[in-house]
Amino acid sequence: MIKPIDENLHAVSVPLPNSPLKDLNAYVIKGEDRHLIIDTGFNRTVCYEAMLEGLAELGVDPARADFFLTHMHADHTGLVTRLAAPDSKIYFSRIDSQVFDEDNSWQPLIDYARLNGFPADELQRALHSHPGFKYSPEKRPVFSIVGDGDILEYGGYRLQCIATPGHTQGHMCLYEPDRRLLFSGDHILYDITPHIESWAYSVNALADYLSSLDRVRKLPVDLVLPGHRNFFPDMKARIDDLKRHHRERADEVLDVIGKRMMNAYDIAAGMTWDIDCASWQDFPIAQKWFATGEAIAHLQYLEGEGRIVRKTDQAVITFQIAG
Ligand SMILES: [Zn+2]
Repeated sequence: MIKPIDENLHAVSVPLPNSPLKDLNAYVIKGEDRHLIIDTGFNRTVCYEAMLEGLAELGVDPARADFFLTHMHADHTGLVTRLAAPDSKIYFSRIDSQVFDEDNSWQPLIDYARLNGFPADELQRALHSHPGFKYSPEKRPVFSIVGDGDILEYGGYRLQCIATPGHTQGHMCLYEPDRRLLFSGDHILYDITPHIESWAYSVNALADYLSSLDRVRKLPVDLVLPGHRNFFPDMKARIDDLKRHHRERADEVLDVIGKRMMNAYDIAAGMTWDIDCASWQDFPIAQKWFATGEAIAHLQYLEGEGRIVRKTDQAVITFQIAG
């Protein structure tokens, strides 16, 4: 399904089966010579067919398209190598491109999850049900690395790359100042809250995310074009909602810890999640993984604020209220 947005600008709705996100919005800017496609969908036949159908309807030949990937998640990048021609440019951030490097393995993530109380027997299952594991590009794409402030010009649009670390460390939005449009990827969504997770102690993902929200909030924007679900006009109000949400979540983490010393996995189990399951034990394994990653992001943020402290002298890291 295609949706017209503005002159030379359309969205192709790419279904994401079994995902609570429902669809990915791939944006297509038609140019005279080259077209630009922003994000692609999973590397799955159902996504591939939807993209081909949408592009055909728009009269866009993918062989004459270049690609911009907002971030490394498989629902945004998965199809890019199937769609791109050998001379297509694939614009991407250096930081997120590193997950596609050959020597990059899942092992540090597994070790880190275990250190945070994720049961060893659940880990392999969690990994194999992870969409990043199943629906990534078949081969490593050849990227054209872009950074903050770089400009891309297609179909009368002047798109400015804006680094917005948080949802992933290399996440980038595209901003069109004349038309006051923001292609927000998964940085700002309207109908759902972007997932913020952390799987390394070197990264304070939530602190990064909150400052990226403040950064984008300063831009004059009339329409936000997110990676999933509805387009929306009032960016500032949505950003304020998201900031409030994370403050409340951080407070909830403090409540769950109370007077105890707990690991991240158990803290995640004690938090409330918007999911149709009677108890933590019933959560699908992938959801436990996402929940634990999100709990860790909030724990690191609280630690950065000096409100909790971490104890690392045992096999599993625990947290307690500071003071
Ligand atoms: Zn994402």
